[in-house]
Amino acid sequence: MKILYVTTLKRDMVKVWLCQETSFFGSLIPPVDLVSIATTLSQDGHLARVLDLRLYKKPLDVYKMFLKEFKPDALVLNLATASAVYDYEIVKVTPREVKKIAFGSHAIALPEEAFQNGFDYVLYGDPEKALRDLVNNNLNAQGIDGISIPYNINRTPNLFEDLDSIPYLDLSMIELNRYSAVYVDRGRLFTAMLSSRGCPFRCTYCLNPTFFSRRYRTQSPERIAEELKFLNRRFGIEEVLFLDATFNISELQVIKFCEELLKRNIKINWLCNMRVEPVNLEMLKLMKEAGCKRVMYGVEDVALLEDIKKDTTSQKIFDAFTNSRKAGLAADAYVILFPDTKHLNEVSYAKYILNLLKQLNADAFQCNIAIPFPGTELFKSLSKEGSLKSDWALYDPGGKKMPYCSKLDLGKVKRIIFIRYPFMNLKNILNLLKDIDLKSLKKMLKKYLENLMQA
Ligand code: SF4
Repeated sequence: MKILYVTTLKRDMVKVWLCQETSFFGSLIPPVDLVSIATTLSQDGHLARVLDLRLYKKPLDVYKMFLKEFKPDALVLNLATASAVYDYEIVKVTPREVKKIAFGSHAIALPEEAFQNGFDYVLYGDPEKALRDLVNNNLNAQGIDGISIPYNINRTPNLFEDLDSIPYLDLSMIELNRYSAVYVDRGRLFTAMLSSRGCPFRCTYCLNPTFFSRRYRTQSPERIAEELKFLNRRFGIEEVLFLDATFNISELQVIKFCEELLKRNIKINWLCNMRVEPVNLEMLKLMKEAGCKRVMYGVEDVALLEDIKKDTTSQKIFDAFTNSRKAGLAADAYVILFPDTKHLNEVSYAKYILNLLKQLNADAFQCNIAIPFPGTELFKSLSKEGSLKSDWALYDPGGKKMPYCSKLDLGKVKRIIFIRYPFMNLKNILNLLKDIDLKSLKKMLKKYLENLMQA
């Protein structure tokens, strides 16, 4: 079977696995979710093309040309909330005879909407596994877990027994030198990877349990290290961004992974998202020794940790930053602005976040507006209140507007934070500018000026 895998149409959108947002820096992350699925299906002899429409000025025209040339039997895409309006445009121009198959959080949360907009199948679980079972059964969904079709929703996730059985990414399917990310050193080839799936925690705003279920599963440390070695030797990859929502659910796993890297003497730098626990100085030092250069911690809003069910404390957040600095790792703070903040005006909320970033001495930060993605607890509670807007384009954590009514304009709070941050953290900004790639630097300056004009 000939299968075409496509990204979103929107140039600056990061949409890979769970991530879905317009990148502030214009980072273009390789669509490794599509590559992983395409690699898996290729092993069974199915012909694959991965088409990154974000690389083209007129993406829809390129897509139509590609359809004529490749003549696929099926189209596969990651239907995310932030990209849904663009994803439906792609489906609309796809000929009727091409089967349209969606995986992704929006498709899983709202399969009926996906079908109304032209999809034929929705996958739930590990998309590599669900799609392989479906395609190898001649697209007959009957009796296969995790395959929904119109009027027959199947919510049993179709999961790999063993994540180690996923083949190594075949990065020859994409043009690696077209991608850039703000934290990747200039001129170095990089990729993203996903080494674990699912999360047992219950943060009210998080999509991970919706996408992969609450069962935490991970590849073995040996398998991950071997894949890094392969990607380095076969494709010249020098930096890896782990997209695991939480890289350190198991401390032992992190330690073993670092030991496997050191054993193989693999010269790759890597970055990962972490919870602030379990974190300790020994583990962080070992990570540094094994090539980790930056960790991104979910700080969110420390005053609301209980409300958002983060299951941690502000003390642990501060300890994680202190220990990361001691270990020589750059530590970034991921902050989320929530509508139920107790602050009475935008300036006061912005000052509080700026002060928090200063106290943490975060090397860099990302500040997003809380987005109630369908499938999350936040979506349910705001739906009940009746304050949600129905335009999916607003459900973009990197966007400027909010998809709900709120007493504060969180977009304005975000703008104030971005404008004032460099003046409060000049040293960190200069450090960041040293390594940042030129494309990202230009975008960052442009965005800064845009924010300044709107202030
Ligand atoms: S710990 Fe991280 S991945 Fe898990 S539910 Fe919370 S935010 Fe999501």
